[in-house]
Amino acid sequence: QPITTDMATLTQEIDKYAKDKKLEIETLIVREEYRKEFLGNVSHELKTPLFTVQGYLETLLDGALHDEKVNEKYLIRANKGLERLIYIVQDLDMITKLEVGDLQLNIMEFDIVELIESVFDLLEMKAAKKKISLIFDIDYNEPIMVTADKERIQQVLSNLIVNSIKYGEDKGTTEVSIENLIKNKVIVRVTDNGEGISKANLPRLFERFYRVDKSGSRKVGGSGLGLSIVKHIIEAHDEKIYVESELGVGSEFSFTLEKTK
Ligand code: ADP
Repeated sequence: QPITTDMATLTQEIDKYAKDKKLEIETLIVREEYRKEFLGNVSHELKTPLFTVQGYLETLLDGALHDEKVNEKYLIRANKGLERLIYIVQDLDMITKLEVGDLQLNIMEFDIVELIESVFDLLEMKAAKKKISLIFDIDYNEPIMVTADKERIQQVLSNLIVNSIKYGEDKGTTEVSIENLIKNKVIVRVTDNGEGISKANLPRLFERFYRVDKSGSRKVGGSGLGLSIVKHIIEAHDEKIYVESELGVGSEFSFTLEKTK
């Protein structure tokens, strides 16, 4: 009898050890896959604008430089490609810092109403190009003080509002509102009546490089990094981010912030 019990215990322990090891190995495999996918994505994202720039510069060197009708146009396009490369590298830099936990939050008290107004000012031209109205929906134009990293929250607002313009309908609207939540929290919502996102795409939206329209001839440019940066920043603040969306109706991204006591 005692031997059987011991054997049983031993078997159990071996089983548990084997299970733990298996889990450890599985985790390593998943990480390795993730790393490979990430590197693949990075080089793919960089290649497209690099080849664009190279293409235009080569055409210019092959003679187009002296063709008054096209030379400026090609230079502008090459420059646009470089701009895109810079954006991607800056986003990658940010993601890396956020993922290694290297990003120090610079927490301060600031007026979120004023910050939203300043982001609106910066993006007014971009919205005007698509005749999109930026609407700030607040009851009273009084300061609402929050405690957070102002520069990072500005980036969150900017990424969300830029998306709502990029994926918004011509002549549509982007509305930002702030609401009080329980326990010294406010929730900031960015709502658009744009193309919306299907249920199938919602769960992966915040992943690095995830884009709904993966076709080579995408209508709008982007790296698929914006939303994952947004999520990282909000989570670094121990706050929450939500998305609700319906295809053809519009999207609402919202995040919480701590109100200054
Ligand atoms: P990017 O805009 O560079 O592709 P993001 O990470 O900001 O990357 O967004 C990921 C994807 O989510 C976008 O490619 C787009 O398909 C979808 N998306 C984001 N915001 C919106 C929005 N407001 N309306 C519709 N689709 C959106």
